[in-house]
Amino acid sequence: MKKYNYVLVGSGLFAGVFAWHAKKHGKSCLVVERRDHLGGNIYCEEMEGIHVHQYGAHIFHTSNKKVWDFVNGLAEFNRYTNSPVAYYKGEMYNMPFNMNTFHKLWGVRTPKEAMEKISEQQADIKGEPKNLEEQAIRLVGRDIYERLIKGYTEKQWGRDCKDLPSFIIRRLPVRYTYDNNYFNDRYQGIPIGGYNVLTEKLFAGCDVELGRDFLEDREYYREMGETVVYTGPIDAYYDYRFGKLEYRSLRFETEVLDEPNYQGNAVVNYTEREIPYTRIIEHKHFEFGTQEKTVITREYPAEWSPGMEPYYPVNDEKNAGLYQQYHQLARKEEHVIFGGRLAEYQYYDMDKVIESAMNRAEREFGENAGA
Ligand code: FAD
Ligand code: UDP
Repeated sequence: MKKYNYVLVGSGLFAGVFAWHAKKHGKSCLVVERRDHLGGNIYCEEMEGIHVHQYGAHIFHTSNKKVWDFVNGLAEFNRYTNSPVAYYKGEMYNMPFNMNTFHKLWGVRTPKEAMEKISEQQADIKGEPKNLEEQAIRLVGRDIYERLIKGYTEKQWGRDCKDLPSFIIRRLPVRYTYDNNYFNDRYQGIPIGGYNVLTEKLFAGCDVELGRDFLEDREYYREMGETVVYTGPIDAYYDYRFGKLEYRSLRFETEVLDEPNYQGNAVVNYTEREIPYTRIIEHKHFEFGTQEKTVITREYPAEWSPGMEPYYPVNDEKNAGLYQQYHQLARKEEHVIFGGRLAEYQYYDMDKVIESAMNRAEREFGENAGA
């Protein structure tokens, strides 16, 4: 008899949603987390009465009603709608690309005028776009590509836009309406009280070991549980035997400012190449805060190397091939479940991670938990 039904490696959303279902079925769980807190990348640190998104801005959005109902059962969500503004050489542009952006750039007033302008600028892209640059020009024309996309993307990914897959840019809506909502999803908001409210509910009733790396003591932890739910990087699990997967990392620089409102918006993107950070987050605006001080975070992209946090999988062809090799090994494992952004090596948003964990829980517990 092992001590726990499940040993969960990592304490992000995948592990949390799986643990919640396991507890509901009377199973016992041990959570092993390398960091000194639960929550993975959605963790918030309280500073000056403000919930600071410690690992970058997190805005919850989904079109999946089951996922939305699930998270609302755990925390109440506010009506925050993400509408970032982009700064380029002294000018401010509304995001995502919409009539406000087109008007500011070209003085056009109607959707028809905007479409004409874009179609002039995309004329030289023929056939299926082969990379991010071609895809971007096809979607919004060359002016927007050069001012709002090229510099930001090359900073973020450390690669030329010609060497990046086109799907990255298809995440952003292009709208011929005066609508600055960054997401097309039906549901959107921030948990009132911050994301830790969700985390606490998800892991309620689990035993927790913080500051412990599963991979450094894997035999010990394997003995503790019948099944391991592994949410760390898949290549690390296999000691990088086929080679290292690539990630992009980030460095966050957080400052408390003695003023109530620094930039008037939660997210301002800096799209020119010469400015080393990609965005400044002013955290209080996620929850409409009225505190006397404010907390801002500059986000600097960085090449990942071992020892750094792997934030973004680089889903290009080379890495996709390598991931497939690891995935083949993972499929054959008995009593190990791989899930989440790092173990599935997918550029997942929170709702997709929750959906993936609900589906996995449904298979495991045979109930209608899936999303
Ligand atoms: P994680 O949250 O990464 O959790 C994995 C955990 O495993 C970590 O805590 C890690 O320390 C731990 N771990 C790893 N290896 C080991 C080990 N060997 N032993 C012990 N512990 C280990 N999504 C949205 O929907 N909206 C957004 O606005 C948004 N913004 C984002 C901004 C940034 C900068 C980033 C990086 C991501 C953003 N996301 C956003 C995505 C979101 O963070 C993820 O989809 C989600 O948090 C991933 O959950 P997870 O459980 O897969 O992994
Ligand atoms: N992007 C851009 N300019 C911007 C914002 C985003 O070119 O002002 C591009 C960039 O390539 C980025 C991608 O769009 O990686 C997806 O943006 P998103 O905001 O979804 O990135 P995330 O929140 O996942 O970092």
